[in-house]
Amino acid sequence: MTVRIDEKRVFEIIESEKPKVVLVNAPGGLLRQTKELMERVKEKYGVTSVLSGDSCFGICDTADDDVEELQADLAFHIGHNAAVTEVGDYTYLVDAVDDVEFGEVVEKAAVVLAPYKRVGLATFSQHLHQLKPVKERLETKGFEVIIGKGNSMMLEGQVFGCDFSTSYQIREQVDAFAVLGESEFHAVGLALATGRPTFMLDPYMDEVTDMQQAADERRKRAILAVYKARDARVFGVITGLKEGQKMLGRSRWITTRLEMSGRKVVQLAMRDVTAERLAPHREIDAFIQTACPRISIDGFTFDRPVLSIPQADALVALIEGREPGEFLERSKWIELTVGLIKR
Ligand code: SF4
Repeated sequence: MTVRIDEKRVFEIIESEKPKVVLVNAPGGLLRQTKELMERVKEKYGVTSVLSGDSCFGICDTADDDVEELQADLAFHIGHNAAVTEVGDYTYLVDAVDDVEFGEVVEKAAVVLAPYKRVGLATFSQHLHQLKPVKERLETKGFEVIIGKGNSMMLEGQVFGCDFSTSYQIREQVDAFAVLGESEFHAVGLALATGRPTFMLDPYMDEVTDMQQAADERRKRAILAVYKARDARVFGVITGLKEGQKMLGRSRWITTRLEMSGRKVVQLAMRDVTAERLAPHREIDAFIQTACPRISIDGFTFDRPVLSIPQADALVALIEGREPGEFLERSKWIELTVGLIKR
């Protein structure tokens, strides 16, 4: 795998903004390349870079609020791009593009996807540049290929782990989705959110994986957690403190509904929602966290139910005597607040 950070953009910003200190944050998989870039920035411009040591899983994990605290001049958020290029007061989004080719895996996909005439294509930041070439290739094999339009947050065909709105809008027009890249995380999310057959095209192993089984498992676990939480008397409602996950309004709404139904609620706030962080709160029977939904949907380590926003909606429906329905099938599972307002 060769992932290239858009160094040219970083250099151009440094040349125009002339910072003395920059704050950098990047996902774990890009730390080596990020540190190399920081060294080059130091050598070329004499600019000091501070690397954020906090977790960075998505575009919600910007470090804009830390810029002033660290007396830095601006921040680079590496590896997660969006329809906007600057967020918050100080942060520049910087792409990281994966050079891997999809030729071989598309050949295999053409066979696996044969029963589906209309195919929706989607991917995440690193492979967005491959959408058009793969579309053309599949079209030469007789498929009708649709890429979901971008919006104010996301680029054409882009999905986040919590926001599938570009694909959700075309789900009725396609028979199946193909997700470019080796990311069960994104592919299973898309399968759950759209309710459509979804296949992951892994260009490293040249494998095509049907996500049905993984999606069914996640869905069952998510439903089970909701029903378990229905019996809880004491709830912990957790508001995430990460910049893009501060869903205070949703936390308040859920707290009110639970209290109206006679449940006791302890309101909590934390940056990282982990089993270790929840362990001391022994009096709490179930948690609802309004931060990253994937903590709940993919989290396999909790000893009590920890519900995401869609699951909390299902719980409230159950408590109020309504049918929860297919609560994971929606365009987005959280409304990111990532300071994604362009400066
Ligand atoms: S909140 Fe969304 S963007 Fe942030 S880590 Fe979770 S899935 Fe990714």
